[in-house]
Amino acid sequence: MAACGGATLDNIDPATGAVIGTLPASDGADVDAAVAAASRAFPAWSRMAARERAAHLRRIAELIERDVEALARAESIDTGKPISLARAMDIPRAAANFRFFAELCETIASRGAEVFQTEAPMPAPPGSAAGSQGAGMIAGRAVNTVHRGALGVVGLISPWNLPLYLLSWKIAPALAFGNVCVCKPSELTPTTAFLLSKLGIEAGLPAGVLNIVHGLGTACGAAIVSHPLVKAVSFTGGTATGAAIAASAAPMFKKLSLELGGKNASVVLDDVDVEWAAAQAARAGFSNQGQICLCGSRVLVHRRVYEPFVRAFVDRVAALKCGDPLEPSTQQGALISEAHMRKVLSYVELAKAEGGRVLCGGSRVEAGELPERCRGGFFVRPTVVEGLTATARTQREEVFGPLVTVSTFDDDDDAVRLANDSSYGLSASVWSGDGERGARVAERLEVGTAWVNCWLLRDLRVPFGGMKNSGVGREGGEEAWRFFTEARVMVVAAREQQISRSAKQQS
Ligand code: NAD
Repeated sequence: MAACGGATLDNIDPATGAVIGTLPASDGADVDAAVAAASRAFPAWSRMAARERAAHLRRIAELIERDVEALARAESIDTGKPISLARAMDIPRAAANFRFFAELCETIASRGAEVFQTEAPMPAPPGSAAGSQGAGMIAGRAVNTVHRGALGVVGLISPWNLPLYLLSWKIAPALAFGNVCVCKPSELTPTTAFLLSKLGIEAGLPAGVLNIVHGLGTACGAAIVSHPLVKAVSFTGGTATGAAIAASAAPMFKKLSLELGGKNASVVLDDVDVEWAAAQAARAGFSNQGQICLCGSRVLVHRRVYEPFVRAFVDRVAALKCGDPLEPSTQQGALISEAHMRKVLSYVELAKAEGGRVLCGGSRVEAGELPERCRGGFFVRPTVVEGLTATARTQREEVFGPLVTVSTFDDDDDAVRLANDSSYGLSASVWSGDGERGARVAERLEVGTAWVNCWLLRDLRVPFGGMKNSGVGREGGEEAWRFFTEARVMVVAAREQQISRSAKQQS
């Protein structure tokens, strides 16, 4: 649907640099219309039995699985990511998100309300001896029942790096627990959200339950955040945007979940098989061209194994195959935009100015090395830099691209100190030949998720989120249920018992 004002934005394929379509540049008027539609849908959707809402979500999951190839292709074209990654990770995970929250909402509904019983002094009932004397108190009992109900209209805003994966991670719990939503995907990657809206219609979602508006963050996203009828905002994106959203939403007392940036450490201990650790750290550093918030962009290596590790690491990284994202064997696709490519390359120059040595990569992929159709694309060679101090900006600021720094530490305490020396606290991974030693290091790291001898593995039931400048709040499992519902407590004095007790006291 066109924006009310008729304005459009270009959608650019980052692998070719070509405009491949347009999207509506929606603004406050479009957001008003979406919120109005959502508000109309809320009473029926929130009152629907959990098992019926779950059935809708499962139907959406089935349709995503049916269309996996078309969705993976669309995701690869919008983002520049290798199609193999979209097929193996992004799209299956979107289906899994809908299935997971379908099941969780049924499980939670089947538990019923939480009930707590309190023994406490209570006002005596009228007619009792204590009651007739005025404000007399008697021993009594009260039943406290906690009801959690849907919030209403919620705003869901997501970034470009994992478009359908992250948007569905918000939509599925919001809908499962009875909310209606107004969602905004990144203006750089609108296609799979649009395709999802069509699948929602095909799945029979009632009109107004799922509203997707497209447009710029500063116009359309900001209008969602500041809309008085939007009760909560779940946002994933950059830390500076998160701060702007918090500044707008906090005075309106909205619930906020902010999943923000990271500068994650990969810690390589000296008891590790260096070839294996190098392969794992390369995957953690460069998956999706380093454009995953959880990528390990600071590799910290025990001094004793630094040289063999770095040799193996650089060999692996330099061998990553850059090329057409639609080619199944491609390992490194394009960066999201020309502006982002320029930002990543500017960090390479900064790293050099800060005294860093580029061990591999460090430049745009030459047009001649790319297939004909990709010559205008935004490809950067996977880059490894060593020799930077812990205070260098390249080691402290989020680059969010294929640029990884390597540095040394002397012992486990030093590794923990360096890993924690960051304004971010999203995730970290520790690589060790001894899982228990790895876990002892990992439990001291100031991050929302610390992996030992693995990366990106996570059960959907566990809380997900960041510490420090990486965010506020947690998503996932029952954390999402708490976020997307509000507790109301009813306390009922057990009057019959009071009366029988007071009768006993009188006799
Ligand atoms: P971004 O902050 O620029 O944009 C994210 C979304 O917010 C987009 O949809 C954008 O249009 C919208 N937006 C921008 N300004 C807004 C405003 N003032 N009000 C409301 N909405 C606004 O981030 P990006 O460049 O799309 O994504 C990259 C960032 O996302 C990185 O920092 C990365 O670390 C982070 N990220 C974090 C996680 C996590 O789970 N912590 C996951 C993925 C990405």
